[in-house]
Amino acid sequence: MAAHSHSYYPTCLLLDLDDTLYQVEEIPDIVRRNIQGYMRTKLNISEDQIAPLCLEYYTKYGTTLAGLVANGYSIDFNDWHAEVHGTLPYSRLLKRDERMREFLQSIPLPKYIFTNADQKHADTCLDLMGVADLFQGIICFESLMETGRKLGVVKDNKPVICKPTQQAMELALEAAGAEAATTVFCDDSTRNVSGGHAAGMFSVLVGRTSKDCDCDLQVPSLFALKEDMPGLWAVPPSTKHLEGTRGAEADDDDVLYVPPVARGQGVMSGRTAESAADCRRREVKVAAG
Ligand SMILES: [Mg+2]
Repeated sequence: MAAHSHSYYPTCLLLDLDDTLYQVEEIPDIVRRNIQGYMRTKLNISEDQIAPLCLEYYTKYGTTLAGLVANGYSIDFNDWHAEVHGTLPYSRLLKRDERMREFLQSIPLPKYIFTNADQKHADTCLDLMGVADLFQGIICFESLMETGRKLGVVKDNKPVICKPTQQAMELALEAAGAEAATTVFCDDSTRNVSGGHAAGMFSVLVGRTSKDCDCDLQVPSLFALKEDMPGLWAVPPSTKHLEGTRGAEADDDDVLYVPPVARGQGVMSGRTAESAADCRRREVKVAAG
């Protein structure tokens, strides 16, 4: 069997929105209260059941909404999103973020928001932050469900497709026209990051550390990627990667690009991490049968 090898640069960046692209403590608190209020007033769920159900559904299904739908609640999704996110005092909570804008602009990759929230929430957040034009697309509740309907996976609005399921990961990659092996996925949820890792993406936990996260890297914020993952800024010899389809192959066809990692801690399993000093393409021989 002859050894055969390929070279890849990262080709796509999938970024979660809430608590990843921005951190505003008040927002998850308000969203949680809005979800509980919806369950109380519109679904008539008893007060003592609300908090346990939220936890159970979030843990088991990815989102409370997904759990409610899976357990037989009939929910008007537009109404849900209007209550849960639509009532947020956005203009008070989110401001233009020049630092984030410059940071995103500096990364020579197609970028997609990958969120379980609705399109309007994502649009509003990105507009207020002043970064909307820097993303090639938004993969969100509506787009995941619409793709699911087209593929026949979703019928009568069931199931709700959301992170961290493998189905959501696959649909997101398809929407971005990207391959898992050359895609970098950043999220603040340990479960979502573990899901991305399982799907084959280079997965980064943002804003926290965890020993229970199956990921490739953990960083305190996206800005830390500049130091911890300089491979994101590596420019391949051709610009094919900017078309958002497939990674440009490196010139010698003998290396598999693995984004280098500076901090030893935080790499829980999976692909091999490298030190910043060792920031270079790592040779990995791939046997082809
Ligand atoms: Mg998040």
